[in-house]
Amino acid sequence: MSHQLAIDPILRDKLDLSRFAVLHIDSGKDIKVALFSTGKPIESTLGDVRAAIRMIRDHNAAVVLVHGKEMENILPPDWAVIDTELLAQILCPTMPAYTIPYLQDHYSLSSCMGADTAAIGYIFCRLIKQALSLPSALLSDLAGLSELHLAALFQRLIEVSLLTEQAVDKEKTTAKSSRKLKPTCLVNTDEMFTPDGPLATMMDDFELRLEQQQMAKAIVDLFRDGGTLVAEAGPGTGKTFAYLIPALQFLRNTSDSDKIKIVVSTRTKNLQDQIFLVDIPFLIPHFAPDINVALLKGQESYLCLKRWEELRAEITGQLNVEGERQLLSLLLVWREETRDGDIEECGAFLAAPRSQWLWSQINSDLRRCPGKRCPFIEDCFLIKARQQAKRANLLVTNHSLLLADSRAERAIIGGYQYLIIDEAHAIETAARHTFTETLSVWTITRLVRDLSGKYDLRKPDNKKTPSSAGWLSKLSLTSAGEKARRRILDNVAVLQRVNRDFFADIVGCLPLTDEKKKGRAVTAVRYQTPLPIPAAKIEDLTSAIELLQLSLFGLGDHLTQDEKRELEIYQTELEHVRALIDELFSADDKERVYWYKQRDNAIEFFSAPIKIADILEQKVYQHIDGLILTSATLSLNGDIDYLTAQLGLKGGPGDEIRTLILPSPFPYQQRMRIYLPTFLSLPDDSRYAETISALLERVISATKKKGLALFTSYRLLKVVADNLRNGAPYISLFVQEGGISRAKLVAAFKGATKPAVLLGTDSFWEGVDLPGHELEVLFITRLPFPVPTEPITAALSEKIQTANRNPFTDLFLPAAILKLRQGIGRLIRSRSDKGVVIITDQRVVTKSYGALFRNSLPVKGLEVNDEQALLLDLDQWFD
Ligand code: SF4
Repeated sequence: MSHQLAIDPILRDKLDLSRFAVLHIDSGKDIKVALFSTGKPIESTLGDVRAAIRMIRDHNAAVVLVHGKEMENILPPDWAVIDTELLAQILCPTMPAYTIPYLQDHYSLSSCMGADTAAIGYIFCRLIKQALSLPSALLSDLAGLSELHLAALFQRLIEVSLLTEQAVDKEKTTAKSSRKLKPTCLVNTDEMFTPDGPLATMMDDFELRLEQQQMAKAIVDLFRDGGTLVAEAGPGTGKTFAYLIPALQFLRNTSDSDKIKIVVSTRTKNLQDQIFLVDIPFLIPHFAPDINVALLKGQESYLCLKRWEELRAEITGQLNVEGERQLLSLLLVWREETRDGDIEECGAFLAAPRSQWLWSQINSDLRRCPGKRCPFIEDCFLIKARQQAKRANLLVTNHSLLLADSRAERAIIGGYQYLIIDEAHAIETAARHTFTETLSVWTITRLVRDLSGKYDLRKPDNKKTPSSAGWLSKLSLTSAGEKARRRILDNVAVLQRVNRDFFADIVGCLPLTDEKKKGRAVTAVRYQTPLPIPAAKIEDLTSAIELLQLSLFGLGDHLTQDEKRELEIYQTELEHVRALIDELFSADDKERVYWYKQRDNAIEFFSAPIKIADILEQKVYQHIDGLILTSATLSLNGDIDYLTAQLGLKGGPGDEIRTLILPSPFPYQQRMRIYLPTFLSLPDDSRYAETISALLERVISATKKKGLALFTSYRLLKVVADNLRNGAPYISLFVQEGGISRAKLVAAFKGATKPAVLLGTDSFWEGVDLPGHELEVLFITRLPFPVPTEPITAALSEKIQTANRNPFTDLFLPAAILKLRQGIGRLIRSRSDKGVVIITDQRVVTKSYGALFRNSLPVKGLEVNDEQALLLDLDQWFD
């Protein structure tokens, strides 16, 4: 079969495309070659790789195009191979995917394509035309950072670009909107969500959802009256539009709207981006075209132009850091085109190995920022984002930043009157995280490295690179100032030594836990009285900090005003660490909980507030007129008392807490079945791991579906994973282990063919989105009660006991029920999804408290007494 590749004459001649070939192995494992010979290239299907290599060699091809890195390894090492997937990642770094079908669709090539090889050829030509629209200087940078063959291509493109500047049309790719905009309309909120209402005329896929209507109405009332509203809305309610439309309407109809600010906070950056990049742009032209909207993330999300330039200079000068150079090349085009400098835009970079490390070298970090002295301040992405956030009437942010701002007395976001907390089930954990202090050997090490650089202080003439030089080395000082600097460097060296010794020596002072005695990795160890660490050791550490503070003080006279402000930041941080050491080792604040974690000889200490409610009340609620909390899981069998106590909502705005509990509009009865097997051993039984491994294997192999198994303990997960690896190699297994991120594991699982199973612990119980056939069988391996010895749980439990209440009913049970509901929420993600949940922990049936769990399930659980009955029913359900 042959396919014609319509080769652009300019490219054909200037790049000598007639000496290119394409090699691809398709999904049916057929090996295909296409040759760009005469303008009528022939695609051939060949029996094996050797035949393909022979054909390409006979064609005398100078360059072979492949799509995907794995293809490169099957070709002779001396061939010039160009990976079009990598080329697309470099030239189009913000695309969501780089598969052949996606790129075909992106370039609207689908209609004329018949084969993958032809598609690769077309994609290559499109990419080249796109590259030719880049400035020559950028092409030259790309050549400098790319490996041999790609570098040669970019070099050639620089020549072609100079020769054909006017000949090649600059190709502009326009972002595809997921929804079509229709003309602006006038809006009546009461009619908004009806089938004849304005929203229905704006959206192609509008669905009438009474729950959405109800929620929007409650939010309109909240904006009118102020106060606190808890709105639990099941999956599929459309809660984002239910609060965004009233918020926009409110801003439009308020006369002094420029003085009003509404903040929307989400747990995840994904939802934050969805709201800001998709939902708000769709709604704003219709509802409030003139309002000021902004998105603000944490400082670490934004590129620091100064650090970027420093790192580029450093890496370009070191030809041996190949990995870093390729990573950097994935950022070059993005850097040129980005408006916001938000790294989340650059998916190709984030998906690459070691990208997190490289990003930590070039992201914004105000501790390293010289402020007004920065030559890039005019274009600084972080400063622009923060200025926009302060001016905005509607600001979209995330829980971490919202809480960091409240801790910093609103210095980041500025004042606001209304707060909408989406994914509100996660706000307590986020708040606890924000207000938790930690101390390890790295706390001081990092601080002094920022101050003095990471070169060896004992060898002052050590070679420094721009990114490794510390703040002190960047000062221009007089000879008197130079003396002060040397004194500081001496004291830095003392502090580094004392710090290292302190953390090495105290390992022997801490009592061995049972886990440590058994040689297992140690979890958190709570302490309520001072640890048996000699006072002299603590004194040594705090004295070394004080000595450094004193010598820094002596530098002040030699600095400019800007430099003095930067010095103050270091002084404040050192003072903070000193106070933290006092607090952690006296352990005398009864409102805080203290613990440490030890892995091998590395110890980290923690201090966290026991109750988060008071902090939220003082730092957040007191300053606002209206508070909306929404999520799919906030209530326990229709009651919000647990949430109210947890978040201190009685101290929220208004006299009363309005509550709205809306079920999901999804047809759960027809789409979801929940099994409660009673034939398995109990979770504490030594045979439990074997029993559930066998059940997982039989269910997945019988249904041939994709499954997710949620665990509460990594130990159980590991045993089940080993059993499945050994006993069921035909099931594709994805296991949370070895530091692989959740996002990467979920992405790999999504790409897997059936049957497959993903095993995950804590973080997999929420936020994992596997729609349709990506997840059809969900296993809950244990009721997710909090671990009673976990320090915060233990401290909360004691507080409840002291108040003569029952920790089991007031804490453990509600927390477990909410988490179970979160876990089950992974299964049905859209109206058309269908699947089953299997709760293998039979306490849900046998224990008296089991009824509370059963009553919280979206459909009635079916008890099954033997495995055959379960498999039979599954067969009929999926039939
Ligand atoms: S002002 Fe600070 S954060 Fe911004 S580019 Fe300069 S150094 Fe980086």
